[in-house]
Amino acid sequence: MIDPNDVYAYFLGPKAENYSVFKEMLGYMMDDYAEWRRGFHPEDPPVITAQDQQTKEFRAAMQDMRRNLVELAGLLQVTSVPWFSPRYLGHMTTETLMAANLGYMLALLYNQNNVAYEGSPGTTGLELEVGRQLAGMMGYSPDTAWGHLTSGGTVANYEGLWLARNLKSIPLALRHAAPQLVSGWTEWELWNLPTEVVLDLMDRAREAGLLDEVRQCSVRGQGIPAGGLGKVLVPQSKHYSWVKAMDLLGLGQQNLVQIPVRQNYRLDMDALDQTLEQLEAGRIPVLAVVAVAGSTEEGAVDPFHKLVELRTAWQKRGLSFWLHIDAAYGGYARSTFLDAEGRFMELEEMQETGQDMLPQAVPSGWPEPEVYRAYQAFPSADSITVDPHKLGYIPYPAGAFLARDRRVVQLISYFAAYVFKQAQESPQLLGSYILEGSKPGAAAAAVWIAHRLVPLNRTGYGRLIGSSIGGAQQFYRSLVERPIFAANDRQYESLTLTKPDLNIVVYAFNERGNTNLETMNRLNQRIYEHCFQSSGHLYRSEFLLSKTSLEEKEYGQTPAVFVSRFGIPRQEWERVGTVFVMRSCLVTPFLERETTFDAYWEDFRSSIERTLSQL
Ligand SMILES: *Cc1c(COP(=O)(O)O)cnc(C)c1O
Repeated sequence: MIDPNDVYAYFLGPKAENYSVFKEMLGYMMDDYAEWRRGFHPEDPPVITAQDQQTKEFRAAMQDMRRNLVELAGLLQVTSVPWFSPRYLGHMTTETLMAANLGYMLALLYNQNNVAYEGSPGTTGLELEVGRQLAGMMGYSPDTAWGHLTSGGTVANYEGLWLARNLKSIPLALRHAAPQLVSGWTEWELWNLPTEVVLDLMDRAREAGLLDEVRQCSVRGQGIPAGGLGKVLVPQSKHYSWVKAMDLLGLGQQNLVQIPVRQNYRLDMDALDQTLEQLEAGRIPVLAVVAVAGSTEEGAVDPFHKLVELRTAWQKRGLSFWLHIDAAYGGYARSTFLDAEGRFMELEEMQETGQDMLPQAVPSGWPEPEVYRAYQAFPSADSITVDPHKLGYIPYPAGAFLARDRRVVQLISYFAAYVFKQAQESPQLLGSYILEGSKPGAAAAAVWIAHRLVPLNRTGYGRLIGSSIGGAQQFYRSLVERPIFAANDRQYESLTLTKPDLNIVVYAFNERGNTNLETMNRLNQRIYEHCFQSSGHLYRSEFLLSKTSLEEKEYGQTPAVFVSRFGIPRQEWERVGTVFVMRSCLVTPFLERETTFDAYWEDFRSSIERTLSQL
């Protein structure tokens, strides 16, 4: 459990304040590791001798290494983005947990490869353990769910869609390879069997010794059928990895249907329902529907609970599909809803006891009931993507893929069906159950040790993330309460896109009275450039921001309302079709102390005003 006062003990600190412990442990780890090497067959003589080490060539090689490492260190110092600093208010990257960094470095020395148990007897176990922990955090039953690490959210999304794709083609494959199991069903019914039903049928095919043939008759063996495998529905706020996934899996980008979002940038359920209506009327199958929990640009949380209800309703009408939550960003925030026993708390209870978790006084009203219910419904998803390297405060690369029912691995595994059961209990060859091959055991060690120290509930990650949500809410309120910035007798208005669901604040500036959208976009572009001198000039920036453009081709007409709030006429949006905005992910753990926020905000405000006066 993290003591509310001890958050700062978990990080190296912006000024490397906790450096002495870090260095001490690094030294200990190196010594310990060297002992390990020496202890392996101590009777073996050394291979590199002191005599070798004295030669001219040897010393030159060492010198060369030193020189090059110094050069690399210099290169990294002038080119790296200082995520650790509370002045960094950009992407979803921040200071990482000290223990995770140390755990990674320690395990890196051992360089285990989690692709197969043989190459990583220790770290494969750690990976499966964190997979269970993350599944538990999502509300899945760890004994029947499936979870493992990936290089990131992109690959976890690929894996989710890969499973959904293969599952969709199983019922029709059964018709060829095991017709007795699906007799009496029409083709449309076969396209629309719920996930559990298909998995049960696969079990029966396996028991009948037919599973290998069934898989051979499915998309795995045959490729995408001429008529396709249906549509994949995603919100407009989707991450672009979904577009890549459609391409990669042969499903075709034209079969990705983007559903509009509302003004709060959450999935528009009515629009989704209408789309389902049209597809059903045209007898076009729906392969999967994706909801986002913490959209990459806005941090918006889609109303997943409504999606679950909608699927139940549609299943009664004979239409079914895979449900995936892309919680690459927002997944760890589910910890804020769990008490120390892992129970999903009541909303009132959370709001009452909010203070002990969130010393920074998260305003009452967080979480909004809609956000709360969305997280509550997570266990109904077929699969979930979550990134430890985002709100898990763990170094790259660490994403994770989770599925509710571990039987899904049969859809992609390269094991003959008969070894499945034993293999499922202790995967000797992880690489044949997942998308990736060779993968770092070090990443698993980093996640594992982080979860050891920071529990996946409100006493651990909940507190960390809660405090960042508190920081974002304060940032948001400060912008709303004092929207006017002044510079050189001119006045600028700032507006926020939405009230943040999590900890991303999106906002833009406009000179008062300006009604030209291009002028406004240029202003924000220049503020951004001023605030984010990439490569080499970082020390000149007082704050580092990130930006994005909300474009008509991605978001349809939704951003038009934001633009009009600045007093810019609708025709301008129609003419320009894009609005340039600042995007600040407030993930820094260093705005924790109540006294620091006001001073921080004043600094930020005057920095923006200085920037405006220099444009
Ligand atoms: C970051 C993100 C991804 C991609 O994850 P990577 O770890 O960068 O591969 C996918 N979806 C969402 C919602 C994200 O925020």
